[in-house]
Amino acid sequence: MSVKRLPPGATIGILGNGQLGRMAALAAARLGYRTHSFGPEADAPAAQVSSVATVGDYRDKAALNAFFAACDVVTYEFENIPLEALGGVAKASNTPLYPSAKVLAICQDRLAEKTFLNRIGIATAPFARVRNRHDLEMALAHLGRPAVLKTTRMGYDGKGQIKIGSKTPIDVAMAVLKGQEGILEGFVDFEREISVVIARGRGQIASYVPVENRHAHHILDETFAPAPVSRAVAQQAEAIAHLVAAKLALVGVLAVEMFVTRKGRVLVNELAPRPHNSGHWTIDACPASQFDQQIRAVAGLPLGDPERHSDARMKNLIGDEVRKVPGLLADPHAIVHLYGKAEPRPGRKMGHVVWLAKKGSSARG
Ligand code: AMP
Repeated sequence: MSVKRLPPGATIGILGNGQLGRMAALAAARLGYRTHSFGPEADAPAAQVSSVATVGDYRDKAALNAFFAACDVVTYEFENIPLEALGGVAKASNTPLYPSAKVLAICQDRLAEKTFLNRIGIATAPFARVRNRHDLEMALAHLGRPAVLKTTRMGYDGKGQIKIGSKTPIDVAMAVLKGQEGILEGFVDFEREISVVIARGRGQIASYVPVENRHAHHILDETFAPAPVSRAVAQQAEAIAHLVAAKLALVGVLAVEMFVTRKGRVLVNELAPRPHNSGHWTIDACPASQFDQQIRAVAGLPLGDPERHSDARMKNLIGDEVRKVPGLLADPHAIVHLYGKAEPRPGRKMGHVVWLAKKGSSARG
């Protein structure tokens, strides 16, 4: 694999113009690169800080072609970009797409993702494909209740999924799929949820310490770095992330979300081939953040140092929580990040706050 080294002044394209793209663009600017964002909304978080911002539809081949032609390399900030148009454009273009369209295809389909993981020897919750009511009945008979039914595509932050308990009617569960293909997963009675963010480029790999993620209303609320887990669990989690990154021939950043069971087993829940909300703490607690690594990886530069200098707690500011900002700014130890979103709608990620602590002071386990 040879990733071309981009000279300063080159243009990095970012598909998607939310907060992840914004923080990637800021990291790119620090290394002397220009950025060009592409997404459906004007004045979006990444558009506000990019050198050039295209407002375009991900299904618009002509717009994507022009975007690729204007960039030296293209990356993305979310994995739910339909591949119908992008796949062909990326294939025909001289501008590389990192991570590759193949990685995107695996990571945007929960069935493909879990099948891939099991094939390379990584454990997940047991699962079955659900195309219709009969499939769901068979799958429930096989996996038992409770179970979790999810759409195979486009789901995030708990959208497009339902926990099927002992009394949930089949019809109520099926309604969640809205006619789309689904996946039924056995319910994992986990002790905690953790994730590992890993970067790979030019054959080099750099991963961050496993962190614990706590959710509220299906949305990430807080991340604790490091995760208070045993050394054995941390090593399992890191080994999994390394194997996935290598097997995907990743160029870029990947987040691996995992469940730790009460017996200390690590099961992978989801892959995200991009920087991740659970890696935001790395901006403030590590010499090279997940966004620095993304830019370095896709620009063909050596990766930076992922070793934290501090422990960290990250709290998302969701919806109305953004009203806490004046108070947070009055705390000199609160590192406040805001995404430039005007309207604090419910469930909308408006920003996040990080608090640092002496390295090693917050680790248990
Ligand atoms: P996902 O969209 O797959 O990341 O799922 C969102 C959240 O739902 C996860 O972070 C878990 O808290 C929960 N969840 C998802 N799948 C399962 C499962 N198979 N068993 C138990 N909880 C799950």
